[in-house]
Order: sequence, then structure tokens, then C-alpha cells
Amino acid sequence: MLKLHNTLTKKEEPFKPIKKNEVKMYVCGPTVNDVPHLGHARQQITFDILRRYLIYLGYKVNFVSNITDIDDKIIKKAHELKEDIKSLTKRNTLAHMQDYEAIGVLKPDKQPKATEYVKEMIELVKILEKKGYTYVIDDGVYYEISKFKDYGKLSHQNIEDLKQGARIKIKEEKKNKEDFVLWKFSKPGEPSWDSPWGKGRPGWHIECSAMSHALLGLPLDIHGGGQDLMFPHHEDEIAQSEAAYGKKLANYWVHNGMLNIDKVKMSKSLGNFKTIKDVLKDYSGSIIRYLVLSTQYRKPSDFSEALLEDAKNSYMRLKNIIHDLKDDGKSNEKYIKEFEKAMDDDLNTPKALQELWKMLRDEKSPGKLQTVKTMDEVFGLNLLEKENIQIPLEIEALVNERETARKNKDWKLADKIRETIKKKGYILEDTDYGSKITPISK
Ligand SMILES: [Zn+2]
Repeated sequence: MLKLHNTLTKKEEPFKPIKKNEVKMYVCGPTVNDVPHLGHARQQITFDILRRYLIYLGYKVNFVSNITDIDDKIIKKAHELKEDIKSLTKRNTLAHMQDYEAIGVLKPDKQPKATEYVKEMIELVKILEKKGYTYVIDDGVYYEISKFKDYGKLSHQNIEDLKQGARIKIKEEKKNKEDFVLWKFSKPGEPSWDSPWGKGRPGWHIECSAMSHALLGLPLDIHGGGQDLMFPHHEDEIAQSEAAYGKKLANYWVHNGMLNIDKVKMSKSLGNFKTIKDVLKDYSGSIIRYLVLSTQYRKPSDFSEALLEDAKNSYMRLKNIIHDLKDDGKSNEKYIKEFEKAMDDDLNTPKALQELWKMLRDEKSPGKLQTVKTMDEVFGLNLLEKENIQIPLEIEALVNERETARKNKDWKLADKIRETIKKKGYILEDTDYGSKITPISK
């Protein structure tokens, strides 16, 4: 049985959905002020694996993940670039979708944009206002956290510490330091919508509360996101949704760990910020995915050139072994069981990958090809597809030179070039369809 670590209880719990065979899952999607970075890759792959594994287990999964296409960061970025907000968000949304696809992430069943649900967000703020959770100050409508007795339950913090009284300078008129904006009044020139409180735009947290309610209904089975979203974003989502709708927001809260670059937290200010596209220049999406899967999702994971190289070598070796497998029509139950055992243990993907390797190295093991196919439904590593290996231009040029030599029947030169290619780390074979090049695995 699948066990998931639930942030709400800080425990690994057996997963039981509300409806027997269905799972309602909501994962906070990206804010499209910029192109996706490796932190997005890790989060996307984590929840893609969870979703795929639930499908593998036979659940009908309804997976919703939003696009935040209006917020302060977007307004700021559009201003910096002197670009229209719509064109900026459209461009970046496309970049997110393309890069997620490249790393094997399946498209969500529904992918709502925040700007399409402003009406629902206003309705939600109205309910909160009616129930007495809100107050208005000069820049917007705020949520008063001291009115919600469960505030802090997700991040396991004491509400008294989050209320006023702490020696932290708070915004002049805010009642508690963690009170947050539900509806932000717009300044001239900013995008705005009409509301009972005047022209403005939704706060970030209200977006997810309104969209998860509109598209899935409460409670959700699983709500997910990166660990950095746990507080305040998810805590605030709970405060809004549970106060307004009188129902639990989600039964299981799943958070993935953060990503380091060369053992240092990735951030723009540190200059070690890497986009998915940067990495895709040298490594395929499956290699990025293989690297992500080699760490359990809750643990901090590291990205570095050396680790990417290791992942590349392992992945290429894996592909080469699988490429030579013959289909005996069987499936290997023993290894499938071990694989499931690993996945059931809070998605222990490194262990699951180990089981795959173990099976491939086990000479007596029958049913290898079918078992790879079964496991790859979850891994999503394209293990059975022929890889379009990216060959460096230098090698391509040598291959062309050799072709010319062969046409001129200069066999000596052709052999010499083949040797040069080998020294540079690639094996060249002549096939009926032309030259085939494979990197020599280390
Ligand atoms: Zn969210």
C-alpha cells in the first residue's frame, strides 16, 4: 500500500482517497514572470511521478495545476522589459509548457490561468468578508489570521508567534504580522478588475483557494508543491479555504525538497541560477529526469555538472542494455514487486531505479523487456524509445569527412577517421541505413 509523508501530521500515512478509485490532486503551478528553472523541474517531476504512480495503481486521477499569470513579480518584470503583461505571460507560459514536456511531465488534466478565475476569487473574498475574516486598509483587503484558530497547523507554528506582539516591524495598519492581502488595490497603469472594494487584483494565495474549489471541490485528496510554498502560501490557502467553505482543504499535503547547485541553494542573487533550457543544451530531458529521480523527493537534491555527467552515463548505459533486450513475452513479477515496494515507501525512486538495474544485471531474470516497459510507465524515462543522441558538431563533421573518404574508396583514411572518432569518445558503426554513432559509456 502506498504511503505518503503528510506535512500536516509529519508522518508517513497509508494513502486512502475520499472516493474509492479516484484521486483529486492539486499542485501549485508556476508564476510565469520568467522561464522555468531547475527548481521547477524538480517540483514538476516529483508530482508527475506521484500522479503516474497513482494511475499505475489503478486510480482515476484528476490532476489540476494552475498558471499564475498575474502578480507583483509579473508586473515588475513587464515594467523592466517594457513589455505588455499579456505578451510576457504568454511567452513564459509557453516556455514552461515546452520545457516540462521535454523533461517528460504529462500535461495536467486542467491548467487554469489565474486571470480566468478572478470572478471566483472575488466571490471567495466576499464569503470571507461576510464571515468576518477580513479588514480593509489603504492598499487592500486583508485576511486576519488571528480569527482562524487553526492558523499555523500546516507549518507547525504557534499562532501566538505569528500574531502581533512579536518585535518585528509590521506594516503600519496590518493587525498581525502574518495577515496577508486578499485583494490588492491597483495603482494607476496596473492591470485591474472591478470589485466591491474597488479596482484591484487578487492576492497570490487566493488564486489557488478559488481554483482548487472551482475545479475539484473540497476536500482535495492531495495538495502538493515545493517546500518553499508550505509557509506562508499553503498555510494561507488553508486559512482561506477552510474558513470560507467550512471544509478541510486537503487530506494529504505533499512537499518536495529544495534544489542546490553545487551544494549551494539556487537563487538569482547568488548567480547560480540555472534554467531548464540551459541544461537542455547539453543534456536530454530524460537525463535531467534521471538525475531528479536518483534522489527521494523530500530530500534536498544537488545539481552539478559532474552529477549531470554521471546521470548521463548511467542513463545511456541503461538505454544500451535495454536496446539489446529480446521480448520473451513474459513479465518479471519478482522485480515488479520490489519496484512497487520502493514506490509505496513514500516514492523512493532511487530504490526503484536500483531494482531496475538489479533486474537488468540479473542474468537469469526472465521478462526483462516487458518489466522495463511496466516500470517506465511510472519513471517516464523513455527507456524503450531510441534516443536521438545529440552528437557534437565536431563529431558530425568527422563522420561526414569519413563518408567522403568512403565514397572515394580511400579506406585507409576512412579507418583513420573512425579511430579519431573513437578517441573522442564515440563508436561509429556502418549499418544499412548509414553511420550509427553511440557514445562510449564510461
Ligand atoms: Zn498554490
